[in-house]
Amino acid sequence: MDVRIGVLALQGNVSEHIGAFERALAGMGHTDQSSVFPVKRPADLERCDALAIPGGESTTISRLIDKNQLDEPIRRFPGGIFATCAGMVLIATRVDDPKVRPLGLIDMTIDRNAFGRQKESFETDLPVKGLLGGPFHAIFIRAPVATQTGLGVTVLSRLPQGIVAVEQGRHMALAFHPELGGDTRLHERFLKNLKI
Ligand code: GLN
Repeated sequence: MDVRIGVLALQGNVSEHIGAFERALAGMGHTDQSSVFPVKRPADLERCDALAIPGGESTTISRLIDKNQLDEPIRRFPGGIFATCAGMVLIATRVDDPKVRPLGLIDMTIDRNAFGRQKESFETDLPVKGLLGGPFHAIFIRAPVATQTGLGVTVLSRLPQGIVAVEQGRHMALAFHPELGGDTRLHERFLKNLKI
């Protein structure tokens, strides 16, 4: 089956996500006509089965989503959204910073810079609910956490500071950067959940 995955390419680690999804698709046996490509405007989104919203600076990406008139198209997007780090901030319903206008697609409250200055970046082996093959080696960079989630949200992983991985329906949000390691299990889990 041909699968088309868009990566929101306004700011942040776009090429890393493209590479990780290409590896995940190859690992799942999708080859030939499947594609992973950058999304910059509403017309790009119309071609996608799934969209990744990458890490970067959530205030900047939020502003650029508005500027590029992508806010409504992303809210109405019928496919799945894979949101990492700044993406997790943007996909939430509530954020502790008025500079971010969240998209409201996963029912959770976000603390944008939950780990503070001393612990801006760290790596840890994270148990993830239902993930086969052992813990996920997770890279956190100025990561957010969810401090509260709604009833429809499945919490996949948490640290003492808060919730760092969730699923709601066809969407997944991760506070860390799965695109930076070689492990594509979470990308594959997201795609399998979409039945693609
Ligand atoms: N905490 C950052 C923000 O809110 C996200 C950091 C990241 O994506 N690496 O923008």
